[in-house]
Amino acid sequence: MATPLQTSNTIDFNSARLSLSKTQPSLSDSIREDYSERRYRMTTSLQSTLDIEQLLQLFLGELKSSVELDGLQYVNEHQKLQLLSGHKASHSCGYRLITANDHLGEIVFYRNTRFSDQHLQAIEVMLSALICPLRNALTYRDALMASLTDPLTGAGNRIAMNNALEREINLARRFGQALSLLVMDIDKFKQINDQYGHGAGDALLKNLVTTIVKINRNTDLTFRYGGDELVILLNRTNADGALVIAERLRKAVQTLAIPFGEEMLGTTISIGVTSFSEQDTAESMFNRADKALYLIKSEGGNQVIGL
Ligand code: GH3
Ligand code: MG
Repeated sequence: MATPLQTSNTIDFNSARLSLSKTQPSLSDSIREDYSERRYRMTTSLQSTLDIEQLLQLFLGELKSSVELDGLQYVNEHQKLQLLSGHKASHSCGYRLITANDHLGEIVFYRNTRFSDQHLQAIEVMLSALICPLRNALTYRDALMASLTDPLTGAGNRIAMNNALEREINLARRFGQALSLLVMDIDKFKQINDQYGHGAGDALLKNLVTTIVKINRNTDLTFRYGGDELVILLNRTNADGALVIAERLRKAVQTLAIPFGEEMLGTTISIGVTSFSEQDTAESMFNRADKALYLIKSEGGNQVIGL
């Protein structure tokens, strides 16, 4: 959720073409020159990263050499981003960052004393140096997210799942935390496609992911591994807990009635469950859950088995 801007200004960086000469006629030549130099340094520095969090940290660091600041908050509702660099304080000033084609989000600056006009001018000059790097970083983030997301269901794809499993195993090992993995597969999914068409199969897959995410309340750790196979990572969850969750999911799916045209689609799922142990790798964990899944399928599906 976006925090409402307490003091809000909108800067249209395209039509305003914020520049030292046009918007700061009151600045003396020496201050203007000084700002020019700082802005140039800022532009060079901000070009060094496409990571938004790093970008904002750099921006704040550079800005602090011109204006005393405690922190800044950046909010981009469209990209579901809310980042705080430094910390909040009693006084704030906020800007909506707009160009002809894009709404780049809102930024709020914090400090414990009032913002003077000169400080606001300095911030605005420096903001104009942030726009291009910020737009590039947002575009990069979009592309990165797309490369890790399954377009049909919105769940993470196989690459995202491999990354996340490696990361979670490292965390589990380092902090001695429990970690479980569910590998699930829709039973007789081909029949749905054959009987009602591919569109029906797609609708079912989408609905299934929505249901699972709702039950687990964790979008980040649900993945479409491929075809009709989904993977769920349950951090801080041991084997007993994972079996309970898997059984809850299996039952919830069994009662789903998914409207598709005139039809109501239903299905069942099979879930192989496994939990991390010290000697595990991502591969060994995944293979064990997959083996459990294979066992279930050989017994006709619609079951949970832990190995
Ligand atoms: P089982 O009970 O053994 O799991 O059999 P199954 O019919 O579900 O078949 P299996 O899991 O081996 O194969 C998955 C099928 O899922 C194959 C393909 O027709 C279908 N499928 C894979 N990806 C998609 C997709 O994106 N959309 C749709 N509609 N179907 C897909
Ligand atoms: Mg299947």
